[in-house]
Amino acid sequence: MTIPDDALAALAEVVGSGGLRSGEAIPARNRKDASKAEEGLPALLVMPRTTEEVAAVLAICSRHAFPVVVQGGMTGLAGGAAPQAGEVALSLEKMTGVEEIDPVTRTMTVLAGTPLAVVQEKAATAGFLYGVDLGARGTCTIGGNVATNAGGVQVLRYGMTRRNVLGLEAVMADGRIVSHLKKVVKNNAGYDWTQLFIGSEGTLGIVTRVLLALQPAVTGTQTALCAAGSVANALAALNRLEGQLGGGLLAFEAMWSEYMKAATEQGGLPVPFAGEPELVLVIEAAMGPGSTGEETFAEALAELAEEGLLDDALIAQSGRDRQRFWAYREANYEFYRDLPPGVHFDVSIPLGAMADAVALLRQRVKARSATAFPIVFGHLADSNLHLSLHDETGDLSGFAEIVYELVREKQGSISAEHGVGVLKRPYLGMSRSDAELALMTTLKRTLDPGNILNRGRILPA
Ligand SMILES: Cc1cc2nc3c(=O)[nH]c(=O)nc-3n(C[C@H](O)[C@H](O)[C@H](O)COP(=O)(O)OP(=O)(O)OC[C@H]3O[C@@H](n4cnc5c(N)ncnc54)[C@H](O)[C@@H]3O)c2cc1C
Repeated sequence: MTIPDDALAALAEVVGSGGLRSGEAIPARNRKDASKAEEGLPALLVMPRTTEEVAAVLAICSRHAFPVVVQGGMTGLAGGAAPQAGEVALSLEKMTGVEEIDPVTRTMTVLAGTPLAVVQEKAATAGFLYGVDLGARGTCTIGGNVATNAGGVQVLRYGMTRRNVLGLEAVMADGRIVSHLKKVVKNNAGYDWTQLFIGSEGTLGIVTRVLLALQPAVTGTQTALCAAGSVANALAALNRLEGQLGGGLLAFEAMWSEYMKAATEQGGLPVPFAGEPELVLVIEAAMGPGSTGEETFAEALAELAEEGLLDDALIAQSGRDRQRFWAYREANYEFYRDLPPGVHFDVSIPLGAMADAVALLRQRVKARSATAFPIVFGHLADSNLHLSLHDETGDLSGFAEIVYELVREKQGSISAEHGVGVLKRPYLGMSRSDAELALMTTLKRTLDPGNILNRGRILPA
């Protein structure tokens, strides 16, 4: 698609010449996200600086029926922000900044292009905590987090992004601005459109400003690396800790034996426990100031070990120990490079079916190819498994079907936290009924009748 001169002139008038790029002047970062989606050169890159500019740009695109792809930090893993041929890429990169921290209502007002790490730092400086944390924190943006309803490693305590958002400002496909930034916790005055926009992956509107809820800063963080012989034991331990630690549990992350083999062999980390336990867990809790919390945490783990729910437990004695424990959970970013070719998934499986699902996955993967193997880890407490299937032959065909059939059988979700984008769109029907898909189509058609916003993401083009 070529942009007619009059439209180009109108867009330049809105964002200025510094806010437009075309052809080879479009930076590499705007051509590809962090997923396996192919690189693409958009017809134009537009970088508005204000909500009003976003609105004016969308009004022009809507009038000319230009398809628009919305871009945040480009860390998405579903191909949603990766441009396709002929699209106008609208990047929020010039809309950054924390506008206000209100200590009375414990809220923060943020522009959508602000990186998550900046939000976390500003919250900490003001004596608070922002509840969402994920590995891409330095680059992903609050707008992208809202659009994907990002999860991460503290969902157990603070929920996904939707639980941390009190209000939004957004621009609809035709350029109308909608805003609801009221600093109240309870609000049943009509439809909650803000929650509808959260997790809609830029298909219903562009998020420009976000009102975030802040939490009290945590104190007395305790971290342990534990071994468990089975998923059943790990889940029993989780339930007990939730009761015993008075809501202090922050993270309960699990790594299955094949993951630990890769972390120690390819990743070069020391073997933490003898005998290849089925699961290694990173358990973290905020136990409050003073030594009482520390003792309670150690006693709770000792009890679980005595009862055989945990086979072993190492408790961090220093910040360095904590980093050493988390290094296992973060080792996948490095060790994947040294594993045979693989394909990655982010699925939910109900906790009651988790052990069976992993056993079946192992069986079916081996039945498909003797040289294939799974790597499984994830946010166990959130019923969220990240998994990858690898084969030395390089033939990855049929793996997606194995995983998504299993998800369907076990009544799970094909996307736990990364979203659908373009990459998982073909499989959405395995998690959603025809009636649900029809409802989603109705919502999309009503809010974006010209189908210009993130066309072909979540729903067919
Ligand atoms: C190392 C690494 C670790 C990760 N860990 C996690 C994790 O633990 N949990 C998790 O949930 N995700 C994780 N992710 C995925 C990713 O970081 C999240 O999906 C994140 O929320 C994307 O934010 P972004 O700003 O990079 O969005 P982008 O990648 O730019 O966009 C993602 C989607 O949101 C849309 N979008 C972006 N900004 C807006 C906006 N302002 N308005 C409307 N739509 C918009 C885009 O069109 C696209 O569909 C990880 C990614 C990496 C690379």
